Amino acid sequence: MADLYLPGGHLSDQITLTGLTATGHHGVFDHEKENGQEFIVDLTIHTTFKYARNSDDLGKTINYGEVADRLAAIITGEPVNLIEVLAERIAAEVLDMGALAVDVTVHKPHAPIQQVFRDVSVSIRRLSVLLQTPKPAAEVVIGLGSNLNDPVAQVEIGAGKVARILMNERKSRTRVTAAQVLPGAPSQPNYINAIMIGNTTLSPLALLAELQRIEDEQGRTRDERWGPRTLDLDIVSYKIAGREVVSDDPDLTLPHPQAHLRDFVIEPWAEVDPWGTLRGKPLR
Ligand code: ATP
Ligand code: MG
Ligand code: MG
Repeated sequence: MADLYLPGGHLSDQITLTGLTATGHHGVFDHEKENGQEFIVDLTIHTTFKYARNSDDLGKTINYGEVADRLAAIITGEPVNLIEVLAERIAAEVLDMGALAVDVTVHKPHAPIQQVFRDVSVSIRRLSVLLQTPKPAAEVVIGLGSNLNDPVAQVEIGAGKVARILMNERKSRTRVTAAQVLPGAPSQPNYINAIMIGNTTLSPLALLAELQRIEDEQGRTRDERWGPRTLDLDIVSYKIAGREVVSDDPDLTLPHPQAHLRDFVIEPWAEVDPWGTLRGKPLR
């Protein structure tokens, strides 16, 4: 299937597994359900190798051995009528393993077709929620922070740019917070923080790419995590129809893993959205 470009313009990294073969009992006819036949699956998993590349650790990628075992279990498992349904089950399983997207082809070379033929197959591409356009528009909470190069102006300018990618947006007042410094690290200037809420039709990863573009425009350098910064824009929460999108992907963890512990997030959020919820609980 066609290449997949991720928000920000990078091509996905791919794991391809072809010709995975097992006997299943899928089909519309009784004899198919009774006798079973061969099903063959081809799969392309779209992901990123960034973490695997840097660690050389199997735990940091999608384990193709485990994928193969799970596919075989689906093929040999509960019978369905249609290979379209089988393809959906396989796609859902692979997305559940942390893929950003998956291309699935299910072949049924011995399908009950009364003509000479070589193969029949169905193919689908399915995207993880991190790549899906939300319907209706998502309700998002963005955290803004700066402690470098005139932080008050950085947050104001940043908020103006974030406003252009949101609808119905509202911004909290800014507040000053002392920087949390790791033991032994040099002290840092105070932070200016604010929160913006609003709606967007950008997918979670497309929104993150836009926020990173704005950070870059304002001279953000990414050498030191938790170092001083001109502008930090984090997605605190991303909800579709009131339901929190949950992700443990290190590139975009949702809701933000620290948000519920940070007064400089919760207080300004409650100011613009007193009925807001995080992890199913009221803000305060
Ligand atoms: P913290 O996440 O503790 O606030 P930080 O904002 O200083 O730290 P950054 O250096 O801005 O961290 O981001 C590091 C990486 O975090 C980014 O490359 C981004 O992909 C990832 N990330 C994971 N979850 C989120 C999120 N909810 N919002 C923004 N970035 C996230
Ligand atoms: Mg941050
Ligand atoms: Mg950040």
